[in-house]
Amino acid sequence: MEIATRPLDGKKVAQQIKAEVAEEIRELKSRSIVPGLAAVLVGDNPASRIYVRSKIKTCADLGMHSETVELSGETTTDQLLDKIDFLNHSEEIDGILVQLPLPDQIDEPQILAAVRPEKDVDGFHPINVGKLCIGTYTLAPCTPLGILEMLRREGITLKGAEAVVVGRSDIVGKPMALLLLHQHATVTVCHSRTRNLPEVCRRADILIAAVGRTALITREFLKPGVVVVDVGMNRVESVEETERLFGADSPRVLETRSKGYTLTGDVHPRDPYGIAAAVTPVPGGVGPLTIAHLMKNTLTACKARRAVFARG
Ligand code: NAP
Repeated sequence: MEIATRPLDGKKVAQQIKAEVAEEIRELKSRSIVPGLAAVLVGDNPASRIYVRSKIKTCADLGMHSETVELSGETTTDQLLDKIDFLNHSEEIDGILVQLPLPDQIDEPQILAAVRPEKDVDGFHPINVGKLCIGTYTLAPCTPLGILEMLRREGITLKGAEAVVVGRSDIVGKPMALLLLHQHATVTVCHSRTRNLPEVCRRADILIAAVGRTALITREFLKPGVVVVDVGMNRVESVEETERLFGADSPRVLETRSKGYTLTGDVHPRDPYGIAAAVTPVPGGVGPLTIAHLMKNTLTACKARRAVFARG
């Protein structure tokens, strides 16, 4: 039986979250408190530059203070540690994000562990990772937090659900699995060595794909009625592949011709329709939720650090 598949509107949920954050910022400002985010950008990776620009623009849109710290691609670990130490002690800064990836010469784990846990709005510090593991977290990685919030607002039942997460990165897969576990889902985590991946995925009531491989998840991975969350952000640059994935008459083909690429997820763009209950589109699904949750994490960090409690 053909199922009417519902697109999950990550953009709309992200707008709601941002509007709520902006409202709280207005309230804090009336008490002379302005939340502040510092973004640290090392080197000139064009994708990183675009991500940082968009995060800083969102801060401005929501009335948040922000600073971009730009450092050359030759920066050493010690020089970066000095900058982080400065931001750790800055009164105006509540959240510090170090845009990844860092250049090869930099000791990334040392840098992530140097950010004060109270200002670690990406949730990458080992203390915050440990708190996420035992369920006492206040700051956790933004992408999985955003996904959880979208599932909650879309009324998707997690308690007792079979959740399969494909991907076990520290940024998406692992924290996603922990968050779902805390919501009482039964969680399976898959990776590149998982045997019979389609069969394992077919168990899922909720399938999260965070792999980085265009259209890895096809119809044979999907149980009828599954909710599919596609975290992947992959570029397809070939017109032939775009036609194969989206259909020859899709506007995506024009996009690849004119822009040189189109964005795809880890889930085949057409296969879930008619099988899944709901699916996130790419783009416009998970991406906007990540930035919205970065803003929310910064607000949370601000309120905790400046001991702001709700008026009762
Ligand atoms: P990552 O660190 O490269 O991790 C990828 C994971 O996928 C790894 O655990 C890997 O397994 C697994 N994997 C690779 N090939 C596989 C296969 N054929 N079958 C099963 N598992 C496989 O990537 P990430 O940082 O988690 O990001 C994943 C995707 O999400 C990327 O496309 C990224 O651009 C996107 N992303 C989007 C957002 C957003 O805001 N929309 C945010 C973050 C990431 P092993 O561990 O065995 O190597």
